[in-house]
Amino acid sequence: MKYVLVTGGVVSGLGKGVTASSIGVVLKACGLGVTSIKIDPYLNTDAGTMSPFEHGEVFVLDDGGEVDLDLGNYERFLDVTLTKDNNITTGKIYQSVLDKERKGDYLGKTVQVVPHITDAIKDWIESVSLIPVDGKEGQADVCVIELGGTVGDIESMPFIEALRQLSFSVGPDNFCLIHVSLIPVLGVVGEQKTKPTQHTVRELRALGLTPHFLACRSAQPLLESTKAKLSQFCHVAAANILNIHDVPNIWHVPLLLRVQIAMVGKYIGLTDSYLSVVKALL
Ligand code: ADP
Repeated sequence: MKYVLVTGGVVSGLGKGVTASSIGVVLKACGLGVTSIKIDPYLNTDAGTMSPFEHGEVFVLDDGGEVDLDLGNYERFLDVTLTKDNNITTGKIYQSVLDKERKGDYLGKTVQVVPHITDAIKDWIESVSLIPVDGKEGQADVCVIELGGTVGDIESMPFIEALRQLSFSVGPDNFCLIHVSLIPVLGVVGEQKTKPTQHTVRELRALGLTPHFLACRSAQPLLESTKAKLSQFCHVAAANILNIHDVPNIWHVPLLLRVQIAMVGKYIGLTDSYLSVVKALL
């Protein structure tokens, strides 16, 4: 199993869900089986008790699970049927660990965030990623994991730590991190600003995760000089800086990514088919 983790920085609502779904579409178009997991670091067990005015529609899965609307994006983009376990929340993780604690599974031990909560997160991800979701036999090739919220939030820390451990245990050939960030333009200067992205990448790296790709959200396409600067400060090759500028509707995003992934210079030699490109990317 290969994992593609999508994290976000600077502000929420940047389009992590749309980016993660679109990456999934590109992978699927290459013939790979794709499943997905959405992590919501809030304490609610599920989205069913939250205000739709704050979080958007509550998406109801076939198994009755009430989940974040991003799961709806995944189902629509990837043509899969997800289960309620494909949505992980802090509430669900703590509940499972506390249930085990009451049963005596940790007798004699001090139950702690590391390793008990982080192990529960890793086990959950590894077992749910094996559930077939596309109606076919057998597990998917790739699991796209979206970490909700923004890197640096207190509540996402156990997830970041668990994902760092997961990236280490599955090895670099099986783990790809795409960090979605914002490139604002200040009216007075009219320049694409890279500093917020520099800060969020620094924060991510301080937590032990280095992005392989940056997905930059901007109003207009990124300038080459902006990419060069981002590359220099963020430790990400300019060719791996993807640009997802504002588009009139989100169905354009997979197309934007398809073109850019095909253009990733260093992998171009492998592009007999998209499959080989994407295998190289993963
Ligand atoms: P997040 O997962 O980061 O909270 P979402 O994926 O839910 O963000 O997207 C937030 C909003 O931004 C959605 O309404 C989505 O339609 C919109 N959006 C995402 N990407 C783009 C884009 N490239 N252009 C225009 N709107 C976008």
